Amino acid sequence: MRDMTMVTSAQKANGTSSIPLNPLTPEQELATRVRLAQALQMSLDPNEVLSLFYQHIQALVSLSGILFKFGSGASDLKIGRECLHHCDYRLTTDEGYLGEIIFSRSKRFVEAELITLEFLLSSLIYPLRNAIRYQTAMRLALLDPLTLLGNRVALDSALHRELQMAERHQHELSLLMIDVDFFKKINDKYGHHRGDLVLCEIARGIQSACRGSDITFRYGGEEFVVVLGKTGAEGAKIIAERIRQQIAETQIIHNGKSICTTVSIGIATRHSNEREHISDLFERADRALYIAKNSGRNCVISSDAITTSS
Ligand code: GH3
Ligand code: MG
Ligand code: MG
Repeated sequence: MRDMTMVTSAQKANGTSSIPLNPLTPEQELATRVRLAQALQMSLDPNEVLSLFYQHIQALVSLSGILFKFGSGASDLKIGRECLHHCDYRLTTDEGYLGEIIFSRSKRFVEAELITLEFLLSSLIYPLRNAIRYQTAMRLALLDPLTLLGNRVALDSALHRELQMAERHQHELSLLMIDVDFFKKINDKYGHHRGDLVLCEIARGIQSACRGSDITFRYGGEEFVVVLGKTGAEGAKIIAERIRQQIAETQIIHNGKSICTTVSIGIATRHSNEREHISDLFERADRALYIAKNSGRNCVISSDAITTSS
């Protein structure tokens, strides 16, 4: 097992016991390997894979908790609870470092248990790696690679969910359609690469002007959408105006010169007593945006205002 691509660095900081447990017999090893392989292939969710592993190994090595650290600290996986005694393993596959796994419990680990844990880990490492890969791929499929905002696929599913919630709880919901003004000129003047950086700045500006509960997406090209849950037309107008102002005040320095830009914003609101399809909401926001463009740009227009004034 030690020549598998998994590298172990068990910290036997807890010392060894005078009553070692017997490691598994070859028959037990085979049966355990088969059982674990069957169980762990049931999920592609890293947290679930770890949880299944935790449940299945309890009969062999009793544990209180498992912590798996990978990527940024925000993505740590935790099963059970942390205790005084622990043993740590650095997991690497042939593709490199996967993460660090920490087993813990209130009783010391003995040498034979460490041997068993190392054996068990050999059944965990590839299912866990596959689940992490799958999760990463799923996340990337929903991200716009330039701005790292959600993309159109993510917008569709988020809006679906938000609309359902709004209908169920009779909440209002607003959608902001944001389009950068004369963006083609920025590309023409400063080049496409600088244009990309301006788009990233605009994405950051939109996010910083929004509340934590608002969800921002890159709709495509130089267009962005913000979904404002539990927000009526008045609230949406305040946030849209804040975004407009934030972008107008942002200066991007290029070769000592500052690039300034503005956005136009169309708002559509789903009122609490209405049933509305996603496409209707988009259509109304788009119409409001069109009017904002024709009203001189760098402004906010709500579709409610169009209906009442026309
Ligand atoms: P308007 O105020 O009417 O919206 O004018 P505009 O120039 O912003 O609109 P238009 O639709 O004429 O041009 C949009 C430009 O956005 C053209 C296109 O090349 C540029 N664009 C779209 N996607 C990207 C991108 O990912 N990066 C860069 N740099 N430019 C992009
Ligand atoms: Mg556009
Ligand atoms: Mg534009």
